[in-house]
Parts: sequence; structure tokens; C-alpha cells
Amino acid sequence: MSADTTATHIAAPHGSKTTEITWADGKRCVYPNEILRGFCPCATCQGHGGTIEFIEGGNAELRDLKPVGHYALNLIWADGHDTGIYSFTYLRDLSARPEVEVHES
Ligand SMILES: [Zn+2]
Repeated sequence: MSADTTATHIAAPHGSKTTEITWADGKRCVYPNEILRGFCPCATCQGHGGTIEFIEGGNAELRDLKPVGHYALNLIWADGHDTGIYSFTYLRDLSARPEVEVHES
């Protein structure tokens, strides 16, 4: 694993509507939960088309967030949707979106 796909700290402050990931290379990325929900990578949301697209209209209230081994996060939404496994590589790629704030430390 390389530093840019190793998460050292993950926080989803209550009421903030964002999830923050700090990476081993020092970058801190603030993801709007709406973006995370829209880009839920699961087959239910994305189908099997191959390209990942933003899916509008999903519930963007994050209920829980669980680590999956050392490589991914499982995000659980308030509407019960819990099949999205977001690998750290995927999350790091997502940080290139303009909606994601990236802070250099
Ligand atoms: Zn999904």
C-alpha cells in the first residue's frame, strides 16, 4: 500500500454533512456526503455498465461507517442502503472531483 491510498484518520462529524479522510501523505480530503452517496460504487447503484456515474436522489444522511479490512470503507446511509464498499483507492480518485476540498498539511 502506498501513502496516497493509506488512510490515517477518518471522521464524519455529526451534523457536518461531510466525511473527512486524512491520508498518510498528509493530504486531508473533505467529501460532501452527497457526493459519496451519488458515487456509491455498488452494483445496485451503478449497474454493471463499467463507468461510474453520479446517481442523483439518494439519501445523503450518513448513519454509519465501517472499515472493511485495511482497504475500504462500508458506508451505511439513513435509508438503510449499506452495500457500498468504497476502497481507499476509489476514495482517493474521487478526491479529484471539484466538490471535494483537499487540504495540504
Ligand atoms: Zn449503492
